Amino acid sequence: MTSELTPNNAAEPVKSSKPAKAQALTAVKGMNDLLPPASAQWEWLEEKVRGLMARHAYRNLRTPIVEPTALFVRGLGEVTDIVEKEMYSFEDRLNGEQLTLRPEATAGVVRAVVEHNMLYDGGKRLYYMGPMFRHERPQRGRYRQFHQIGAEALGFPGAEVDAELILLAATLWQELGLEDVRLELNSLGQPNERAAHRMALIAHLETHVDVLDEEAKRRLHSNPLRILDTKNPAMHAVVEAAPKLIDFLGEASLAHFNAVKAILDASGVSYRINPRLVRGMDYYNLTVFEFVTDRLGSQGTICGGGRYDYLIEQVGGKPAPAVGWALGVERVLELLKEQGTLPEAVGPDVYAIVPDASALPVVFKTIQTLRTQGMSVQMHAGAGEGMGSMKSQFKKADGSGAQLALIFGGDELARGEVILKSLRDGAGAQEAVPLADVTARVAAKLV
Ligand code: ATP
Ligand code: MG
Repeated sequence: MTSELTPNNAAEPVKSSKPAKAQALTAVKGMNDLLPPASAQWEWLEEKVRGLMARHAYRNLRTPIVEPTALFVRGLGEVTDIVEKEMYSFEDRLNGEQLTLRPEATAGVVRAVVEHNMLYDGGKRLYYMGPMFRHERPQRGRYRQFHQIGAEALGFPGAEVDAELILLAATLWQELGLEDVRLELNSLGQPNERAAHRMALIAHLETHVDVLDEEAKRRLHSNPLRILDTKNPAMHAVVEAAPKLIDFLGEASLAHFNAVKAILDASGVSYRINPRLVRGMDYYNLTVFEFVTDRLGSQGTICGGGRYDYLIEQVGGKPAPAVGWALGVERVLELLKEQGTLPEAVGPDVYAIVPDASALPVVFKTIQTLRTQGMSVQMHAGAGEGMGSMKSQFKKADGSGAQLALIFGGDELARGEVILKSLRDGAGAQEAVPLADVTARVAAKLV
């Protein structure tokens, strides 16, 4: 992109005396605002993830949203959907650096791990959450800014860590109450095994070149494995009959794969071997997997991952094995919504009704104590002159979803009391409570 610094735009002379109303700006296509109450469901999911990661001893890593373009070109592979057509890349017009909004986070995690020499004292288990950017056609479950949560274990070569990560994801589905998610599993073997398979695959595809679409023809010699991932139904028969990578795996690769499967079997996690599962990035080897649902149409993959033992070296680090996955937050929430099991947004515990502004000092003091004790309190705030009528305050209190109202009326305050009123269970019931007992009384009412 070239510099877009424009010369001083000579302003059009304003004809009417009134300034023209500025045209409202809207968000970029495919990039969404997240508003309450839906944002509470995101927080709910994020809390679940934080708890789960802590219990598995995975620690949080936060990397920049912008990285050097070269990181993704080197890390993901040049002949991938992401690098070929989905990246938001631009030149920093101040210093000419080539930058990209991260389309995924694994490459950045690896860069950070190498840059900070994090593996010097052994393997690391990490997780992240955050926005990713891909220029795709926006539709349900596919956005240009979307969010991933990912887990990565770096520095561990063994199949037990592959299994740990898969089980971690499966546990998350359980804790979120996700249904109808199935696990698909494959092994991509090692580079030499892939090379042998690649030759057989190209030979097979060449004998059916008439059936291949343009993209497949283009990838026939650059990245034939990716052709197996095609969504073009016309090519399915050819792809189905193609030589399977799994038949080219040597003893060590098979042993690794079998060890992963054995732990999954022993843990009661079911899976389907999908020999065509290859994943979008070039960096994977050995174990690859996806969690898939049929309930979200063609955006059915909610989580994908695998082993990437060569990526660290590829971005300039000392060779070290690694494995990880990433889930799509929008798709997981969409699936929960589809099931009808997304938690409802909850209101505050207490709504503080303030008939007159003169009560505010007592109101602040009282509700601050409630908040310190962990209760959530929404204070009424005036919308025009003064605090507003009692009627409008009660309407707001009801609308807030609060369980209880505390009414700081002048007469009661003069006696050192407030009125505590139920807004939900036994709505209408009310009692006068001495100010000194408010915290205990409210707490008792809330259980
Ligand atoms: P797809 O085949 O659906 O394009 P992908 O293989 O490109 O997915 P990954 O790069 O493996 O996806 O990303 C991991 C997860 O992130 C996906 O399984 C999906 O849940 C989510 N995801 C990927 N791209 C998008 C997007 N554009 N919008 C929303 N979620 C996405
Ligand atoms: Mg994609």
